[in-house]
Amino acid sequence: MVPYMGESLESATAFLKQVDWNRFVYPFDFAEITAYLDSIAIGQPAIKAAIEITINDLSGKISEKPCYEIYIADPAKMPLTSYTIGIDSPDVIRQKVADARGFKVLKLKLGRDNDRELISTIRSVSDLPLFIDANQGWKDKAKAIDMIYWLHDQGALLIEQPMDKNDLEGNAWLTTRSPIPIIADEAFQRIGDLEGLKGAYHGINIKLMKSAGMHEANKMIHKARTMGMKVLIGCMSETSCATLAGIALAPLCDWADLDGPSLTKNNPFKAPKMKDGKYLLQALPGLGLEGIPEGLFIS
Ligand code: MG
Repeated sequence: MVPYMGESLESATAFLKQVDWNRFVYPFDFAEITAYLDSIAIGQPAIKAAIEITINDLSGKISEKPCYEIYIADPAKMPLTSYTIGIDSPDVIRQKVADARGFKVLKLKLGRDNDRELISTIRSVSDLPLFIDANQGWKDKAKAIDMIYWLHDQGALLIEQPMDKNDLEGNAWLTTRSPIPIIADEAFQRIGDLEGLKGAYHGINIKLMKSAGMHEANKMIHKARTMGMKVLIGCMSETSCATLAGIALAPLCDWADLDGPSLTKNNPFKAPKMKDGKYLLQALPGLGLEGIPEGLFIS
């Protein structure tokens, strides 16, 4: 749970106490489940996602099907997943690039005064393609478009949330001029936000901790397609559990940024398998979560 979404251990625990678990009956109606969870409280998408992903896993286990098969996602269409490198000193950045071994795309967080210096540091040690996340950090659209062209020359494939999430006009101005896709992240949370972003962004960043689960994320992907928009599937700091749910939907998306388990020190599960920078979907029922430690479940 990220603090800026207004969730905490306390709010999640209080939410769980309000859930009537007896109403979840197989075969599960995920549209009804999402509506029910939304009726308990507004917001709180991460705890809703936790419940909804659990029921997706259960549904797959009962029907003996992998979740990706239920969502008609073809494992052969798995996109490359990026590895995120945060803003840091040149020495730390060089170490992080070394840590990213096995990944074929790097994601960089920009939005400060030394963005070009940061890219030059990366380029001194790696020629991998880049996803750029400006995290709303650019204030001047003329400077931002210059930067985007420069980043394009440096091997950037897309730019996430260049300007403030509320500055629809500024982001739209960049979208009409950018040589690479402009993606909404902070500006996009639930499916109801999608219509309002038409024309202002080339695509959206879907995260299960924003969408409140897999059912709505899948609906977002298909709706974005009908609107001619691109889709990046991302994550928060997550264990293999939530990440496997994202991986199950990733073949339906253009790009993936599902590096949660690689950046999480207390992941209790086995890391999802990866080859040549892409996750490997396994033919296991449900999410295919492995390595569940004994004593994790409290009755
Ligand atoms: Mg982002």
